[in-house]
Amino acid sequence: MPNASLPPPVVLVTGASRGLGRGIALQLASAGCSVAINYAGNLAAAQETAGLCAARAASAAQRFVPVQADVGVRADRERLVAETLAQLGRIDALVNNAGIAPRVRADIAEATEESFEEVLRTNLQGPYFLTQKVVQYWLAQKPACALPTGFKIIFVSSISADTASVARGEYCISKAGVAMAAQLWATRLAAEGIQVVELRPGIMATDMTTGVKEKYDRLLAEGLVPQRRWGTPEDVGLAVQAVIGGSFPFSTGAVIPIDGGFGIRRL
Ligand code: NAP
Repeated sequence: MPNASLPPPVVLVTGASRGLGRGIALQLASAGCSVAINYAGNLAAAQETAGLCAARAASAAQRFVPVQADVGVRADRERLVAETLAQLGRIDALVNNAGIAPRVRADIAEATEESFEEVLRTNLQGPYFLTQKVVQYWLAQKPACALPTGFKIIFVSSISADTASVARGEYCISKAGVAMAAQLWATRLAAEGIQVVELRPGIMATDMTTGVKEKYDRLLAEGLVPQRRWGTPEDVGLAVQAVIGGSFPFSTGAVIPIDGGFGIRRL
């Protein structure tokens, strides 16, 4: 993946301390990238991700740096970009992965505005404006890109972007918004040579789903997902690696499902 005449590409991955973000960081490490490992509060997990990345690195020039920032807070987003540039010297791709489920799964007839605001701020406003910050850097500074097919932005949405779950309406709305954010940025940035892709995971085995594991184990056994297994962080990491490595060069605005066939209409 790296261009031999430039330093290793730097990818900023939000929410990379655990779960899907860690899986993304690990694949990028194997592919020769340096990674800014954003996390919200779990420094130990972020350091563990950094150590696992270092063990997989393809060259000694790669670096793996934890950077704390709440993507839902404007000042934190600005500091996240500034610290990544200060510590790693460049940004070649942004993976907007960080996200939260509602603290309580509540029927939309009862759910609170506080939960709506928290989930929308983190899952939608955060990646939308973090993207704006990184794009401003690219457009203003015009840095050379270390990736073979140019700068990339990836949004990690969810099947919840178009699958209604009435016990977490705010999450579904946030992910539907992320899907539109990806379309908007893809449209705005195509002529700048910057590619934007949405990855849409299905039912994935991470901390986010531990509380509903038995329910999903049962639904998987009943065939809800044609491939009949949980998705893994590696499934998402491999897709990110393919996009960032340049395997989808003519596919800006693409929506790539990582859901084991969940989205197939069946009879
Ligand atoms: P997870 O296991 O709960 O991990 C969440 C990650 O995001 C952690 O690294 C966490 O950092 C970080 N994070 C949380 N809030 C943050 C904030 N405000 N600012 C910065 N980082 C923050 O979640 P996951 O399952 O890997 O989910 C990753 C993404 O995939 C989310 O956008 C989620 O909506 C989406 N997704 C998940 C599934 C699924 O089934 N799991 C399915 C489809 C889509 P700390 O470690 O510091 O807390």
